[in-house]
Amino acid sequence: MKYFSLNNQSPIVNFKEATLLGQAPDKGLYFPETIPQHPANFFSSIRSFSKEELAYRVVEPFVGDAIPADELYRIVSETVDFPFPLKSIQPSIASLELYHGPTFAFKDVGARFMSRCLSYFSKYQQNKITILVATSGDTGGAVANGFLGVEGIDVIILYPSGKVSPVQELQLTTCGENITALEIDGSFDDCQAMVKAAFADKDINTKMQLSSANSINISRWLSQQIYYFLAYQQWEEPTAPVIAVPSGNFGNLCAGIMAYKTGLPVKHFIAACNVNDAVPDYLQTGIFKSKPTTPTISNAMDVGNPSNFIRILALMNHDYHAFSSLVTGYVISDETTLQTIQGVYNQFGYLLDPHGAVAYAGLKQYQQHHTVANGYILETADPVKFPDAVKAAIGIAPAIPFAAEALFHKEKRSIPMLNEYAPFKDYLLGR
Ligand SMILES: *Cc1c(COP(=O)(O)O)cnc(C)c1O
Repeated sequence: MKYFSLNNQSPIVNFKEATLLGQAPDKGLYFPETIPQHPANFFSSIRSFSKEELAYRVVEPFVGDAIPADELYRIVSETVDFPFPLKSIQPSIASLELYHGPTFAFKDVGARFMSRCLSYFSKYQQNKITILVATSGDTGGAVANGFLGVEGIDVIILYPSGKVSPVQELQLTTCGENITALEIDGSFDDCQAMVKAAFADKDINTKMQLSSANSINISRWLSQQIYYFLAYQQWEEPTAPVIAVPSGNFGNLCAGIMAYKTGLPVKHFIAACNVNDAVPDYLQTGIFKSKPTTPTISNAMDVGNPSNFIRILALMNHDYHAFSSLVTGYVISDETTLQTIQGVYNQFGYLLDPHGAVAYAGLKQYQQHHTVANGYILETADPVKFPDAVKAAIGIAPAIPFAAEALFHKEKRSIPMLNEYAPFKDYLLGR
């Protein structure tokens, strides 16, 4: 498989080069030259595949010969090394729980796949690779966990000070070793802008080999297709599901749409957003405007200028009508999010986290206007990552699972930094 830059000013590359670079030299996002099609018998026999086999078949066409088959099989097996249950909440809505990985959020899938690909590629690299990553909360922990102790790779995480939850912050500041956390006095979009500026900076790029671990990296983006297929293996109903995706930077939804384009049966997608509504706004009006970020209780979705939107446009051939017939956007307030957590808990005994609750509320609204619309939400984080929101909704905070408890005995280590490019650049050049 070959990849081109959506800005069309960079050379065509393969999976390895695109993964190592993260972003194309012309600052465009990489996009596959063709979209592979799964044969019909793939779907009729999907239940006979093991989790690992299915994951392998989903990613293999995108990787091509960049990684030998046995290595790729090992990489995907480690990537999906935890359960992905599709649990029924109520008759018309199920929850695909994507939070049973090491950092309790769905980003473990993309981060594990990417870290293992990069660690395979780094064996054949002369230079150390430095991963620069901006996080709104969960990316940092998943990337830190995925790369901790990997030789030949340094990870620098930028996170917005005071805007991530305690568990999230501990996950990205307590690793040590090859992981460094920069605590930025700004928003997620500020962190993302600093990372983008570093990628475009010649001084930095001559000194160090940078790579990105945000969902602009194709290895993260494309591997996220896997769990849409794992869900379909568990989907029992005669009609294809409506899938509600809690969205921020839109890597997750973009992976779902890619899965759909390769043949996965999907009835409709819900782009479920908090008040950061750039994409729902586009779906209403046909005009895309990035916006400043507004902080919410579903903080991993506080993104005003989603990076992957441009990829979704490419998947949709820039056809507004096709896009808006496949995807409906909903904007869910914090108040509705809390009411949803409370209502679903009281009525069905199922505890949602704020991100899953946004998806649930979106799907619910869609179902009020459409008859055959059974579906599932992507439950992207364990409620334990958001104890304050859960407590505000149901009066009690979720119990900290054993695996997270150890975090509270570790010491936070971060480097505080102003929301300015110059000191960040100095820091990188001085390392
Ligand atoms: C990152 C994240 C999202 C948003 O995913 P995108 O791919 O950026 O749209 C949603 N929920 C949680 C818990 C997250 O960590």
